[in-house]
Amino acid sequence: MRQPLVRDIHDLLERGRDRQLRLAVTGLSRSGKTAFLTSLVNQLRHAGLEARLDLLPAAREGRLLGARRVNQHDLGVPRFPYDQAMASLDANPPHWPEPTRGISELRLVIRYRPGKRGLLGSEIRQLSLDLFDYPGEWLLDLPLLGHDYPSWSLAQQPSRGQARARLFADWLDAVADLDPAAEADEARLAEIAECYAMGLRAAREAGFADLQPGRFLLPGELAGAPVLQFFPLPAIETHDTAELARLPSESNYATLNRRFRHYQQRVVKPFYREHFRRFDRQIVLVDLLGALNAGPERFEDLSRALANLMQSFDYGQRSLLSRLFAPRIDRLAIAATKSDHVTPDQHPRLVALLEALLAEPLKDLRFANIPVKALSLAAIRATESREVSLEGHRSPALRGKSLTGEELLMYPGEVPDNLPDHDFWTRQGFDFPAFRPMPREGGALPHIRMDATLDWLIGDKLQ
Ligand code: GDP
Repeated sequence: MRQPLVRDIHDLLERGRDRQLRLAVTGLSRSGKTAFLTSLVNQLRHAGLEARLDLLPAAREGRLLGARRVNQHDLGVPRFPYDQAMASLDANPPHWPEPTRGISELRLVIRYRPGKRGLLGSEIRQLSLDLFDYPGEWLLDLPLLGHDYPSWSLAQQPSRGQARARLFADWLDAVADLDPAAEADEARLAEIAECYAMGLRAAREAGFADLQPGRFLLPGELAGAPVLQFFPLPAIETHDTAELARLPSESNYATLNRRFRHYQQRVVKPFYREHFRRFDRQIVLVDLLGALNAGPERFEDLSRALANLMQSFDYGQRSLLSRLFAPRIDRLAIAATKSDHVTPDQHPRLVALLEALLAEPLKDLRFANIPVKALSLAAIRATESREVSLEGHRSPALRGKSLTGEELLMYPGEVPDNLPDHDFWTRQGFDFPAFRPMPREGGALPHIRMDATLDWLIGDKLQ
């Protein structure tokens, strides 16, 4: 047993150390980042009042006093548009907030009473929580740092799947007769790059997720800049790379090669160096139900994209990331979002499926001793769970409204608790519509397991 005085000194030191936490939220487009961050801020602001956070001990024990927004530290990063998001949810009828497109930040100061009281009695402590939201697509670019232009070109040929190749048909036509040795024509390269970007956008629309370069999809302030005017060169398959490397600097090949390197050095690396490296905790959101709904090719693609994306959290000694940036994330959550699309009896299966999908990356993370947890959640619950009587049996069902306001009562189907096999896809026992958010009657947003998620991400700092 430590002496009380020693314990208090220890507590004081801890307090100094624990004043600040940088929590990052990511996921591919439409995975639910904007909804998640809106709900997270909303729950903490209503903590101690109407928020239902029973799975977060500080809230359950009445020690969480609330949170308020303060000015963020980094003035170069846009502020997360919380008020606009809440205005959408409070509109009549409510609608989903406009998704954010790049990186954004918001700082909360959380006030709480520590769980163990020392000599300092019922003192109140503060935790500054810096929240960052950034597109998961940006993480898809990490593997790109491990390539040079020729090897990247080879890896990115869209001929990997038939549906995918169809989406890139215009680009494949446009690039087919581009001679690597010919003198570069800026306008033509820009045109072909735009065709490539269109292919990527179409692929994303179609639900594909393994798409590089990530900034082609979300260019932000780089839209139209020459650094985004490159693409893989199919001719590389039939040319000798040593010969290509000797081509003059005005050639198509040398120009594309230069832009690729510039993209690596000036776009991808700065994000990792200036932001990613400084995050303490991270949650990765995954729209697993959306992918299940969309069919086998897209599910496969999500799985590939996640494997790529998860490389950004593989801190193994020799990993690309550790060598380049020495990041410090000490806790990670991976969450299947929008779980209100299935009945509560399916939630454990959703987590099992997520774990199966990420089995390899999870193994690597556990091996590297990074605490990681797989969860399912609904940031903003848009359905109510019901029971219906069907031929004398009671079975679970969901009630909600479609996006156009139509009342729905349905059983959306069973989530497979392991990677779906051929049988699952042929039965396709899974189908759900998008739901409209429910009107909020004052108070906090309805959710599923946001409290468990918060406990994993920040609970230890509220002890
Ligand atoms: P982002 O692109 O990652 O920021 O994704 P959003 O947060 O904009 O979410 C994309 C869409 O998913 C929203 O417009 C909603 O239709 C849906 N969505 C997100 N979170 C939830 C949720 O908790 N429940 C339900 N039912 N739908 C959600």
